[in-house]
Amino acid sequence: MIDSHCHLQEFEDLQAVIGNASSAGITGMICCGTDVESSKQVIQIAKRFESVYATIGVHPESNDDPLEIENLINFPKVVAIGECGLDTDNPREIKLLKMQVDLAKRHNLPLMIHNRKQDKKILEILGDYPKVILHCFTGDMVFMKECVKRGWYISFGGIVTFKSSHGLRDVAKAVPEDKLLVETDAPYITPEPLRGTRNEPRNVKIVAAKIAEIRGTSINQIEEVTARNARRLFGIA
Ligand SMILES: [Zn+2]
Repeated sequence: MIDSHCHLQEFEDLQAVIGNASSAGITGMICCGTDVESSKQVIQIAKRFESVYATIGVHPESNDDPLEIENLINFPKVVAIGECGLDTDNPREIKLLKMQVDLAKRHNLPLMIHNRKQDKKILEILGDYPKVILHCFTGDMVFMKECVKRGWYISFGGIVTFKSSHGLRDVAKAVPEDKLLVETDAPYITPEPLRGTRNEPRNVKIVAAKIAEIRGTSINQIEEVTARNARRLFGIA
């Protein structure tokens, strides 16, 4: 199965972490840059490990220039722009996001979107661009439906396993099967029951199991469907 969003550049014991993932049956990992330096790192990791693919971008917390990202775009295994998005609606963040939307459009690449309660702005800025992943989705039913209408993919991570996430589980149940993705955001957002420990891509199985439980289907079905969706979206084998 495929972990649609992680940050392998944060692990010092990379070889072991990728070994753990592979033993758990994780055949693909989408490793996301958050600034110019980490985008260069994820390209190197993708080069080194067959199962790893890279996304390159500038997170709203960074002040790097997205134009520097464009120099990296033609490296092999770069499958998306991001992660990029909004923590707030301040003009600096909006400008940063708009530049990366433009970059994705010019190169016909998917956008890996980070969104902290800026639903309206995200819809407005991304418009009808169809190649979008809402990573670590935490929005409500109305927003999910708006996203799906535009052809966007909804990726769920560890938050869907948290006790308090009742509303999010209702959303996860309602996402059309062909728009569903799963992720870890490792080393962050460890799923239940492992909270308090470091998150790793192998834990995407826990997320998949929770989604299967919510949707009343088998883990196998969720693994298959989400892997198929990720391959289609990212254009990977
Ligand atoms: Zn992330």
